[in-house]
Amino acid sequence: MSSNGGRLVAGMARASRPLARKDMTMLTNAADAPHVAPGAPRAVMGALAATYHGRGAVELGEPYRVLIATIVSQRTREEQTTAVSTRVFARYPDAHALATADERTLYDLLDGSQYRETKAPRLIELARILVDHYDGQVPDDLERLLALPGVGRKTANCVRIYAFNIAALCVDIHMHRITNRLGWVRTKTPDQTERALEHVLPRDLWAGANRLFLQHGRALCGPGVPRCLVCPVRGWCAYGLDAATPKR
Ligand code: SF4
Repeated sequence: MSSNGGRLVAGMARASRPLARKDMTMLTNAADAPHVAPGAPRAVMGALAATYHGRGAVELGEPYRVLIATIVSQRTREEQTTAVSTRVFARYPDAHALATADERTLYDLLDGSQYRETKAPRLIELARILVDHYDGQVPDDLERLLALPGVGRKTANCVRIYAFNIAALCVDIHMHRITNRLGWVRTKTPDQTERALEHVLPRDLWAGANRLFLQHGRALCGPGVPRCLVCPVRGWCAYGLDAATPKR
């Protein structure tokens, strides 16, 4: 198990019991803000950490590499992200090298990463901004990260977590879907989910949450009919405990 997973499991000493029916009523009640049972988020994250390995294609590391690998990873599978990032870093080990890259060469190196025709010029532009404004370094400030080409809230927060060890919520479509099903939030977009989860998920669980929800989304809780019948967190899940929802 990963160190993240170890910390999460340790946190389960304070975990709550699964939901009772009366808790369900609170979670599914009309349009009120969700009421999350005390201890439920810590219990769910502990159960997920005990089930999945919690590692990903981008790990804690040097900010330039974390930023570039995170952009490479957008809409791209982990295996491809690792292979493509390794090729890019071998040729362009820092922002100064990437800023002077030939776009066609970078496009070829990005083979395997989705939307490389867009990513190649953006990465070069991004590197030039880092060189011109930050002496080739990556800023850790959210607003400055968001001003970089190809960097949205998810990417910016992933960089803050994995490059700077800053507590942040890196919310992708899996985390958005699953936390809505759990009944922790009632939101339309990942950005709304990020803000809502700040009030639900204990801060010490933020950094590892994205990996665990990503793996859970791929394994059991995908965009189709979820596999609630074998899910380790069903006992805390509003959707999983609702007799009226489709499940398998
Ligand atoms: S019980 Fe079902 S909906 Fe809830 S987290 Fe598990 S798979 Fe997803």
